[in-house]
Amino acid sequence: MNSDKLTIARERLQISPIDEWSVYKKRPLVIAGPCSAESEEQVMTTAAALAASGRVDLFRAGIWKPRTRPGQFEGVGSAGLKWLRQVRETYNLPVAVEVATERHVYEALKHGVDAVWIGARTSVNPFALQEIASALRDADVMVFVKNPVNPDLELWIGAIERLSRAGISRLAAVHRGFSTWEKSSFRNQPRWQIAIELRQRIPGIPLICDPSHMGGDSAFIGDLSQKAMDLNYDGLMIESHIDPPSAMSDRKQQITPVELMNVLGSLVLRSPSTDDPDFIETIEELRSQIDVYDNLLLDILESRMQVAETIGRYKKEHNITILQSTRWREVKDNAVDKGVRKGLTPEFISTILEAIHQESIAHQMKVMKEE
Ligand code: PEP
Ligand code: MN
Repeated sequence: MNSDKLTIARERLQISPIDEWSVYKKRPLVIAGPCSAESEEQVMTTAAALAASGRVDLFRAGIWKPRTRPGQFEGVGSAGLKWLRQVRETYNLPVAVEVATERHVYEALKHGVDAVWIGARTSVNPFALQEIASALRDADVMVFVKNPVNPDLELWIGAIERLSRAGISRLAAVHRGFSTWEKSSFRNQPRWQIAIELRQRIPGIPLICDPSHMGGDSAFIGDLSQKAMDLNYDGLMIESHIDPPSAMSDRKQQITPVELMNVLGSLVLRSPSTDDPDFIETIEELRSQIDVYDNLLLDILESRMQVAETIGRYKKEHNITILQSTRWREVKDNAVDKGVRKGLTPEFISTILEAIHQESIAHQMKVMKEE
């Protein structure tokens, strides 16, 4: 096995299971609060409503805001830490703040925050991460690590490792999606498989979904939260503002505390496993059918590559190029048409065919190079 595919045991990283965290009452763990702390009143009224719901485990509010473009509201700075302390004392609600530099960490710890999160624009940078991890050394705080803005699993894992090595054990990953150049309905593409792979690489790492930054629009929060629950995530980080239209940052994606309670109340929670023998028997039977089809797929791919190699040899004998674009386009268009009639999406068929085609070219190249 490729060494970078090796599983990193949670025990080796000494990450404490989320159900042992004192803030954790039940699944999902809920982290909620405004994108930014804006004023004492806004912070306190939002916190009052969230605390009254009894369903929020951690209150979040950004005070140093990493804005993509200059000239926007960049947060109230350290002044906001006093308001967070007031939230903690008045409502007995643990508080979390974003940190991006050593100074932020010192300030946050000085004001007794319970948790910090590392933003997506920071987790891309190993220097920043190391600086933050060193400043946090052995601190008694929960640390949430957002995925880096770019879809790079190694950077995300590296950030978690740096914090773990600094003695942080209440450590969780926050999946907030990845930015892309292409326009899409989501602000950040979920790429769920990256978070699933993270969980495979660090088994037991608590995984939180942030549907607010993923969707970028309050309309998507319910569906994305449900999807995260169906994928067995441990918690949700959702931006909630007492009056979203007046928010100074991320206005479109924030929801009121009442709306948040509706989202949470509508979630369908399924359990990841069961002891029911009938269920187990049926699912095993169905899984063995899947295994049969997967094996068939592999056999078919093997045969297809053998034909590709024969074609490669034949083209070589006749001095013909490997790539013939018109033929490739025909193959792809036909498959897309046929696949759509079978209920498969055009994106899926194109992705699979492109991968097969690339592999096929590689096989043809190999035989072309043979003496
Ligand atoms: C935030 O949580 O307000 C934030 C800035 O998030 P992200 O780092 O995911 O963009
Ligand atoms: Mn935000």
